[in-house]
Amino acid sequence: MTNSFQLDEDLLQLQKWIHDFAEDVMRPAAEEWDEREEFAWPIVEEAAQIGLYSWEFLAEIMMNDQTGLASPVALEEIFWGDAGLGMCFMGSGLAAAGIAASGTPEQMLEWVPQCYGTPGDLAVGAFCASEPDAGSDVGGYRARAVYDEANDEWVLNGTKAWITNGGIADIHVVVAVVDPSLGTKGHASFIVPPNNPGLTMGQKYKKHGIKASHTAEVVLDDCRIPGHCLLGGKEKLDERLARVREGKPGNSQAAMQTFEATRPAVAAQAIGIARAAYEYSLEYAKERHAFGRAIIQNQSIAFMLADMATEIDAARLLTHRAAVLGKNRAFKNAEGSMAKLKAGRVAVHTTERAIQILGGYGYTREYPVERWHRDAKIFDIFEGTEQIQQLVISRAISGLRIE
Ligand SMILES: Cc1cc2nc3c(=O)[nH]c(=O)nc-3n(C[C@H](O)[C@H](O)[C@H](O)COP(=O)(O)OP(=O)(O)OC[C@H]3O[C@@H](n4cnc5c(N)ncnc54)[C@H](O)[C@@H]3O)c2cc1C
Repeated sequence: MTNSFQLDEDLLQLQKWIHDFAEDVMRPAAEEWDEREEFAWPIVEEAAQIGLYSWEFLAEIMMNDQTGLASPVALEEIFWGDAGLGMCFMGSGLAAAGIAASGTPEQMLEWVPQCYGTPGDLAVGAFCASEPDAGSDVGGYRARAVYDEANDEWVLNGTKAWITNGGIADIHVVVAVVDPSLGTKGHASFIVPPNNPGLTMGQKYKKHGIKASHTAEVVLDDCRIPGHCLLGGKEKLDERLARVREGKPGNSQAAMQTFEATRPAVAAQAIGIARAAYEYSLEYAKERHAFGRAIIQNQSIAFMLADMATEIDAARLLTHRAAVLGKNRAFKNAEGSMAKLKAGRVAVHTTERAIQILGGYGYTREYPVERWHRDAKIFDIFEGTEQIQQLVISRAISGLRIE
């Protein structure tokens, strides 16, 4: 990690480009799409028109950037614009990450672009892992994938829960059990291509926040997919399962590094919301007068803002450190989880304090801080809850099996 805390010229340009879009397009649209509780296709189209919603942009910030910082810088700005709309862009990124984690280079080239489509002909992707009875407990997944050798097809059955873009996606990446006797090591990931009659949308959830993002159940009922839709391929799966059955150690260290590497991106999203609330309440506190002075001239208000600024910077420093470590696969003490844990908490606390600073106005939907507070809470829950991050960190720092 370099000792400079200054972003380089390329990163500053990236930041400004996205900030302008967030300010000019996302901010004015945020309230409407929160109220509508619908996937914001016109806003995603605008992002696609400038290349912000595209697989090329994802590749640029995730793979081509050598610093590790392009992704957190970009995501902080997008989520500063709005988290619900930001999630409309990000659901496809989750699917792409699922493909990249298990797929061959050929599968990535085939399927990742199909998660995005092109301007004027948009597509979206979904990553389907969680189930109604198994979210944190990934060993509890029950959705099954059975190979039909005669037809070289896989047959998927089961229900996936809480899926971002579930049922409206063109490409669904599905994690399913191929050998129930092997626990999490008996899982594999599959692509369900567009318009498969065996995949349908179950209930659409009515949520507390990030309401522009579509979240629904995905029902797999004898969902038949071609053999080549198994990510990584059959040969590699058979080899891996054989190794596990023989009791040979898996590559759990590599898997841990991969999970950790995705967490700074999620942390950066939370920081974007926190920064939005902090900036807004700072300006408000300077303008709002009570008892003959600006409310910021009371220490109790000014100190809240001082804490908010400090906590946001602390979360960002943890996040940028984790992003740089992630680029080099150099995590030692679950620094990715530390960043996500801290940033989620900071987002929830900062947005709550922002409501406090705005008083009664902060509690109404006339002002954005209550929306930001609702949006922030998801960062304690998805992509590993607060407690699961604590579990990962405590195991990393102790080297013990903490339950
Ligand atoms: C808006 C939204 C979008 C989502 N998008 C996706 C998506 O696109 N794809 C996808 O696959 N999933 C998605 N999820 C699912 C999300 O990842 C899960 O909700 C999350 O992992 C938690 O699982 P759960 O809801 O089943 O809670 P549970 O696992 O039942 O947890 C309930 C509570 O128990 C705690 N807990 C559980 N186990 C332990 C333990 N061992 N030690 C201590 N505490 C524990 C948890 O921290 C939590 O507080 C989404 C969820 C939401 C709400």
